[in-house]
This record gives sequence, C-alpha cells and structure tokens, in this order.
Amino acid sequence: MNPILRFAPSPNGFLHLGHAYSALFSCHWARKMGADFLLRIEDIDILRSKPQYIEAIKQDLAWLGIKWLEPIMLQSTRFDIYKEATKKLNALSVLYPCFCTRSEIANNAEQKDPDGAPLYNKTCKNLNKDKITKKMAQNIPYILRLDMDKAIAITNELKINIAMPNPSSKPKTIIAKPRKWGDVVIVRKDIPTSYHLSVIIDDDAQNITHVTRGKDLEEATHVHRVLQSLLGLDNPIYTYHTLIKDDTNMKLAKSNSSTSLRDLRESGISAQEIISQFKF
Ligand code: GLU
Repeated sequence: MNPILRFAPSPNGFLHLGHAYSALFSCHWARKMGADFLLRIEDIDILRSKPQYIEAIKQDLAWLGIKWLEPIMLQSTRFDIYKEATKKLNALSVLYPCFCTRSEIANNAEQKDPDGAPLYNKTCKNLNKDKITKKMAQNIPYILRLDMDKAIAITNELKINIAMPNPSSKPKTIIAKPRKWGDVVIVRKDIPTSYHLSVIIDDDAQNITHVTRGKDLEEATHVHRVLQSLLGLDNPIYTYHTLIKDDTNMKLAKSNSSTSLRDLRESGISAQEIISQFKF
C-alpha cells in the first residue's frame, strides 16, 4: 500500500512556527516517500474551534507551499462514528462513568500523568450500579474513563512501531507502557469523544501508515496503542519530531501567544525564509 501521512492541527488559534515545522516535516517526508499527504482538522473542541481558524490553517499551509489531497477530514462531522466506537468499548466493559469535578481530581491526585496533569485516583471506578443510577438521575455531569487495568488485561503486551529520526527510517519496536496514564478520559462532558479516541479512529479511517507528531505527543501514543487494539484498528508507524522552542526555551503554543505565521507573513517574511531555517 502506498504510504499515507497527515497533518492534524486543532483550529483553536492561528498556526505558529511550531505548527509550520510539524506540517512541513510531514509534507517533506511524504514527498520523499512518494506518499499521499492528508489534512485533518481536529476540531472536536466545539467551544475553542473556530471556522476562521480553519480558513487560516488552509491559507497558512498554502503559503508554505504545502498541498494536501482533498477532502479535508473534519472531526466535528464525525461524532456519530466516535459514539459507535464508544459503544464497542462499552461492550468490552472497559469504560466507567466518572462524576468527579476538576478540583476533586486535582485535590485527590497523588501523582501526575506523563503530561504533568493530576493522575486520576480512580474514585469513581468502584461506584456501584445504584450509586451510578442515582447520580445520573440527578443529572450530575460525567465523563467516561478507560479502566486501564482491564484494558491492559484484555490487550496483553502491545508493540509500538517507531521510525526515527524520520518516517522513512527502518521501524523499531517498543513495548507499549500505557499504565502511567491511568484511567484516561475517553468521552468528555461536553462532546461525545476525546482527543485520544478521535485521533486513533481517524488515523485508521484515513489509512494513515506513518503518523508524524511532535515529541510532546510521544507518551500519548502508548494510550493510543491500547485503544487501537481494543477497537481492532490498524497501528501505524510513529515518528516524533523535535519541538520548535521560543527564545526562553519554551515549547511554542497558541496559548503563550507565539508569533503566528500570519503575523510573520504580514511583517514581510517570506515562506522560503521560514522553510530554510528548518532541518528535516
Ligand atoms: N491535533 C493534535 C495537535 O494539534 C495533533 C494530532 C496528533 O498528532 O496526534 O496537537
């Protein structure tokens, strides 16, 4: 099968240099490998995603000379598909409702997850059926979490294929270690999915053979491998690229108002000047 790579930004802000590198990295290797290159808009966050950011993503990528095959996949159009996947996970009894508030989770956490967020202490894992029914009847909002112990018991030892330093390198295999993430969120309160669930469903739906993503998502792949196995989905080869840092050595993020590509463009910088400072 012809390799297929993708860029999958979230439209909750303007793209910055870090995104430019990520998109150019994937597109560069897709060209080298004679692969298809797809664009997926990860807009499950209905409050933060904005249509103007989707338009801006297309303009910024086109300015960088990046071409993708149509159609562009929009995750916000795929909630029914994520619901079906949740049903499958439910049938395996690996999900449970969690009624804890953010502050309860933070206050009760004794450890952190690989992202540095409070690790859920599993308070709701042992709620009995009556308590669950009662809380639901009271309309207390809840999320669905993965029972990681059960998931690991079902899936046994799983392998992740990693091609470093680039997708055309010979893949090596490592053992997935998802336990450190604890009982991750599979379905959020506000939307019928989560990043972890949507990303693996859509990489499979788009037949992505090589996932390129920043090193900040390296640990998340361990959760993704478990979910792929539970849902019987393909597992692609993963490549993690370095992150572009700002002057203070911080990862660039939309939230810390890093210079956006459109600001750079308006200031007169050419796409070529941006591209030439990157190594792939
Ligand atoms: N949408 C994710 C982001 O913008 C990337 C998706 C992925 O590579 O898993 O960080």
